Amino acid sequence: MWNEQKSFFSSSETGTLFVVPTPIGNLDDMTVRAINTLQTADLIAAEDTRHTKKLCHKFEILTPLISYHEHNKEERGRDLLERLGRGETVALVSDAGTPAVSDPGYELVQACTEQGITVVSLPGPNAALTGLVASGLQVQPFLFYGFLPRQKKEKTEALESLLNREETVILYESPHRLRESLTLLASIAAERFVVVARELTKQHETYIRGTAKELAEWSGTESIRGECCVYIAGNSDPIKHDEPAWWSLQTMKEHVETYIKEGMQSKDAIKQVAVDREIQKREVYQAYHVED
Ligand code: SAM
Repeated sequence: MWNEQKSFFSSSETGTLFVVPTPIGNLDDMTVRAINTLQTADLIAAEDTRHTKKLCHKFEILTPLISYHEHNKEERGRDLLERLGRGETVALVSDAGTPAVSDPGYELVQACTEQGITVVSLPGPNAALTGLVASGLQVQPFLFYGFLPRQKKEKTEALESLLNREETVILYESPHRLRESLTLLASIAAERFVVVARELTKQHETYIRGTAKELAEWSGTESIRGECCVYIAGNSDPIKHDEPAWWSLQTMKEHVETYIKEGMQSKDAIKQVAVDREIQKREVYQAYHVED
């Protein structure tokens, strides 16, 4: 049997878990609703309480803080569920961006949904979507992957499989692993279009756009600082066809001759050139024989 959550008309005695995004670099991105929610919650569960304390200070939030992170999520998750069960309101925050997106939170949200505790997700800052929109790559469909595995073998396998996808692929990457990841990417698909979005929402926000090979070269010339997202064009994104075709500097005759040299019959070579150039076979035939 399904269950229905009416977020703001709950008849149950249990509390609500608010998932509250926080800025990814620019404090002005803190929403009015996020401030109000943090001010009125009974408790804020934060990935790093010292970090969130600064945010609270800036926005005059006096709500008590408790830590909820990768290493205490089981035990602390049980405490939080118990408090939510008693009717308390808990606001969940991570260090930056939207909790549960490559950050702690998913298990707590899942446990709440299983126990009939209302979960309200506030819209707000998120690095993946912020950069996707300005990347210039197809926005949908997209596939959010997050961090690649650390080990080379698993990382290569993950990239090979992601490169077969039609969707724009979104990766999170740390600055000190970016060069290695771009070099690996270039070794698998040198011509694939890639965008790196760095320091989003900050003063030094930068987008670097180009083929995997070009970005690998760029990463060798830069000392990379600041957080970044990597966007890989899907394998059907027209942007990757922007590079000139290999035959673009050849005459039609040279183009036909290249195929003949590769072993094609002249008839087939003419047909293939017509396909490549999206023109009539007759035109290629004439150009080939007239120039002869
Ligand atoms: N939950 C966060 C969100 O909603 O975006 C993501 C947290 S994850 C631990 C951190 C990663 O997000 C970074 O390694 C980087 O890939 C990306 N990121 C966070 N802030 C960013 C920024 N200002 N510019 C670019 N990427 C950022």
